[in-house]
Amino acid sequence: MLKISLSKIQELFAAIAADEALYIPADHAGQPEFMRWSEGMAMTDALNTVRSAKDFFFPQTEDLVSFKMEGKSIEIIDPRTETEDFVVFGVRACDARSFSILDRVFLVDPVDSYYANRREHGTIVSMACSRPAETCFCHSFGIDAAEPEGDAVCWKTEDALYIRANTEKGEKLLEKLRPMMEEADEAPVKAQQEKTREILGKLPLNSFTTEKFGGDVLLKVFNSEQWKSLSESCLGCGTCTFVCPTCQCYDIRDFKTGSGVKRFRCWDSCMYSDFTLMASGNPRTSQLERFRQRFMHKLVYFPANNDGIYGCVGCGRCLSKCPISMNIVKVAKCLEGEL
Ligand code: SF4
Ligand code: SF4
Repeated sequence: MLKISLSKIQELFAAIAADEALYIPADHAGQPEFMRWSEGMAMTDALNTVRSAKDFFFPQTEDLVSFKMEGKSIEIIDPRTETEDFVVFGVRACDARSFSILDRVFLVDPVDSYYANRREHGTIVSMACSRPAETCFCHSFGIDAAEPEGDAVCWKTEDALYIRANTEKGEKLLEKLRPMMEEADEAPVKAQQEKTREILGKLPLNSFTTEKFGGDVLLKVFNSEQWKSLSESCLGCGTCTFVCPTCQCYDIRDFKTGSGVKRFRCWDSCMYSDFTLMASGNPRTSQLERFRQRFMHKLVYFPANNDGIYGCVGCGRCLSKCPISMNIVKVAKCLEGEL
């Protein structure tokens, strides 16, 4: 394990940014967001960013292909420029786990080459939590906030940053940083982990579990009477899906540029009324059906098709951002009474 004094963290960032783009969680217009580091930019004190780190691999909008027309000929242009290596620093344990969920969607056959390209070029440096919030429940999905996944993992104490590599990419990064760091004893990290786990044990959602959704419950959950009362206040705003690190729905559209066509994709939300709109009509005509779809996907369909892995990492974003205070914990607690 390596260590560097917090007073030298800007030097550490500069060393990383010398060779590749570096993104850190920083305060921007009063909100914690991942930002491209530039000299003097400090890390936020907030626990987590408003939007998750999934943006780096699955951005909110991206160009897929362009078609340029001249007379009867059509030129097909691949607009991809994501060949730059980058480091995402300070990813929390919940977001670090979300990548393995997204991988199960985008890296299975047929592989999404846009996503795969970004995954190949990105190095994830996660940051252990020391002050988990009341909305956190990552441990419900077997995530240890004191020991996150990632190519490399950091622990920030009062005066120092400790860092350890988990993968080859992480080793490569640390090799470069080694001259400015010192070998460190793990004792301060172990002490912080113990404290963090003590706090996690006292959090209000400590005993929350989705275990009951893992079995053969599809029809029982789908046909529950509870969906009516759970969904009746939902505004269909899609906030829960946009802040969620594991939501992966998107739309593909063509845009006429005048001299050709640009095809792009953008995030979509199963909470939107036109999400399933097709030429033949819309199979989900009520907010109840749309609301049910989101939670069925995370709690039932995804685990049924992915070795029991749920489509949630317990980041708590939907708990704090939904304008009607609806969230996956309320839904699961309400439905589990019937299982
Ligand atoms: S469903 Fe909510 S708590 Fe779960 S990962 Fe998405 S935003 Fe986070
Ligand atoms: S559950 Fe909440 S955040 Fe999600 S669409 Fe409905 S009102 Fe918006």
